[in-house]
Amino acid sequence: MNRLIDGKKISAAVVEQLALDTREFIATSGVTPGLAVVLVGEDPASQVYVRNKVKQATAAGFNSTEHRLSADTTQADLNALVEQLNNDASVHGILVQLPLPAQLSEPEIIRLIAPHKDVDGFHPLNVGALASGGADLIPCTPMGCMIMLEQTLGDLSGKHAVVVGRSNIVGKPMAALLLQANCTVTIVHSRTQNIETLCREADILVAAVGRPEMIKGSWVKPGATVIDVGINAVEKEGKRRLVGDVDFSEAVDVAGAISPVPGGVGPMTIACLMKNTLTAARQQMSV
Ligand code: NAP
Repeated sequence: MNRLIDGKKISAAVVEQLALDTREFIATSGVTPGLAVVLVGEDPASQVYVRNKVKQATAAGFNSTEHRLSADTTQADLNALVEQLNNDASVHGILVQLPLPAQLSEPEIIRLIAPHKDVDGFHPLNVGALASGGADLIPCTPMGCMIMLEQTLGDLSGKHAVVVGRSNIVGKPMAALLLQANCTVTIVHSRTQNIETLCREADILVAAVGRPEMIKGSWVKPGATVIDVGINAVEKEGKRRLVGDVDFSEAVDVAGAISPVPGGVGPMTIACLMKNTLTAARQQMSV
């Protein structure tokens, strides 16, 4: 190998193309795509994510608005804001940053966002469309992983893909996209037996578990392509560091190509949010 799958570089190219497409869209439609980002509470990680999303949206040429609500916001108040954004023609994409404070229902909010403005791709209608192969708004992290895989491997047909994790945000949509790309897909989760053996059979291994460095080098098939979605803060040698779900120092010697943490999937997720926002604007303006 060993090819590093550089998410910063790939996402920069995606964003560059997106800025050109946005300029063309604005020239054709006379409308600037609008992204509204809603943040409830003061979770430090969410604040960083929201700041980055707003910054990237502005850089892409979108109108970006940030709505900050206090941690004790009621469901009625949050619902009212989402409905206001649903009815605002200048807003083409709505993102409510998760997780929400405990008193608020995430499923209720996900269902309330108008499906055509659901740039996270979490609304049941968009989830159903993805499952049946015809989605336009696809969850951003798995979309980013697919771009990385296609750039690394080209055609994914016939490859055995193992996805570790079955969350609605990453694991399940990832598996759906890999299946759509004609992979043979195995989904592994906390009740799966013989996880190591299954992982070792993977031509493509996608880790989305949330357990620091769980996947060891010995779990990786020589030459496999490894995408590490995990973002875990750990203390190493007295310093706070971010690590993935894959033990990078071991896996890098076995894999054919591997994405690092940080600098892998993270930047791709934000780039794909921008892609979804432009897609949503195009659909709403019939461009
Ligand atoms: P999640 O909702 O907590 O789901 C974790 C999944 O891993 C679950 O399906 C769980 O199985 C499975 N799991 C947990 N322990 C396991 C074990 N020992 N063996 C096998 N499977 C196990 O997490 P998520 O939202 O999918 O996120 C996963 C990771 O990706 C986190 O580190 C998160 O921070 C990161 N992430 C990164 C990005 C990005 O932009 N890079 C975006 C989203 C998430 P069960 O279903 O059986 O409980």
